[in-house]
Amino acid sequence: MSEDCIFCSIVAGDIPGRVVSETETTLAFLDVNPLAPGHTLVVPKDHHARLGDLPDDVAADLFAEVHALAPRVEDAVDADATTIGINDGEAAGQEVPHVHAHIVPRFDGDGGGPIHAVAGDRPDLSDAEMDDIESAITST
Ligand code: 5GP
Ligand code: ZN
Repeated sequence: MSEDCIFCSIVAGDIPGRVVSETETTLAFLDVNPLAPGHTLVVPKDHHARLGDLPDDVAADLFAEVHALAPRVEDAVDADATTIGINDGEAAGQEVPHVHAHIVPRFDGDGGGPIHAVAGDRPDLSDAEMDDIESAITST
């Protein structure tokens, strides 16, 4: 547990959260400032700031919980679809430095956009640049 982490405090029960699901390693609760009815956050119970910091088994548990919960949330609020995302790092908009997946119910005509709308200007990459990026990722 991290002392001044709001999500650790929710996991510990020190501050209230509207908990909708719990597993041995994860907790899911309603976002206090929802983007849509049913907006849910799924967090690992242990404190880790970034997705890459998660141990493999906890990462698998986190995704398994998102997989199990997303259709239930969608049904519960009678949504038409769901957007799932993780702001992984400050530059990506992460404000709470404790890994969390957002489950955001979506409704026909809700005025929102696809996940493609989160980035800025699209780069115009050459084939060579794409090849370099492919190599850089595969060689890590
Ligand atoms: P981020 O920008 O880090 O991906 O998202 C953080 C989310 O946590 C925001 O959607 C925000 O509304 C939510 N949040 C911040 N503080 C609290 C809190 O104390 N309780 C709950 N349930 N959600 C919170
Ligand atoms: Zn934490």
